[in-house]
Amino acid sequence: MVYVGRFAPTPSGPLHFGSLVTALASWLDARHHQGRWLLRIEDLDPPREEPGASERILRTLEALGLTWDGPVIYQSQRSEAYAQALDQLQQKGEVYPCSCTRKELQGSRIYPGYCRQGPCHPDQPLAWRLAVDPQLTATWTDRIQGFQQWPLQAAGDVVVKRKDGLWAYQLAVTVDDLAFDVTHLVRGIDLLDSTPWQMNLLRYLAPDAADFDYAHLPVIVNAEGQKLSKQNLAPALDTRQSSELIYRALVALNQPVPPECRQLPCEELLDLAVRHWQAEAIPGKTHIYEESLPPCTSTASSWS
Ligand SMILES: [Zn+2]
Repeated sequence: MVYVGRFAPTPSGPLHFGSLVTALASWLDARHHQGRWLLRIEDLDPPREEPGASERILRTLEALGLTWDGPVIYQSQRSEAYAQALDQLQQKGEVYPCSCTRKELQGSRIYPGYCRQGPCHPDQPLAWRLAVDPQLTATWTDRIQGFQQWPLQAAGDVVVKRKDGLWAYQLAVTVDDLAFDVTHLVRGIDLLDSTPWQMNLLRYLAPDAADFDYAHLPVIVNAEGQKLSKQNLAPALDTRQSSELIYRALVALNQPVPPECRQLPCEELLDLAVRHWQAEAIPGKTHIYEESLPPCTSTASSWS
């Protein structure tokens, strides 16, 4: 089987435990299938970036033993590919310019299609929206969440290029996954509802390409039920506790790992985890409370 996976962090802050669970699951799934694992830094939105965060993310993954294949892909250097894709979509009329402001769209959960027949205010700054195929229903069997069925009409037309000229997430992700021959997406369930748009884009950009294989992981939440993030002050990973962290992430992923394994050197623990990896064991839930997981028992164990 050809397997190309990827981990695609946004450099808005250091990796925290939630991102570790995603990175580890996608890394183990790739390694278990003798696949390649790519690392892509999603640095599309400079104002939201934290200086030095990309570099810290790379060093953290290295310290944890989560090695990647090939050069790191930076989305900030991929504008040409995104522009080409947009051009292709424009030529086929699969995108349209939209002048709607946030205020005009207030209260609309999905885009109401005001500019579908031409921008309401052509002299205003314009974004580009995907004209979703209303006949299309994205269906796939998610390896963790089971059978999924999402009518595109209910998703609405999504922005692929922002008014301020920045590339939007859905376009960049699809173009990159296609360009780098990614086959398997293992990522957080918060991206489940992005999948229909990405499948529609894939259909438009490469009608003959096979769909990706999807596995959407439950996300790790704090006691208040919020996804761990920089905004709610999830601490950066302390890589001196690498084995403890990997052990804890394996427990979150419901892998049958004996507690004594947390004493192993990180590399050995990862080797074992690759061999015994069972993606099917991951619960098809939306979230896992961080406090339900065993705490890291020792501190700075690698110094002893
Ligand atoms: Zn509009």
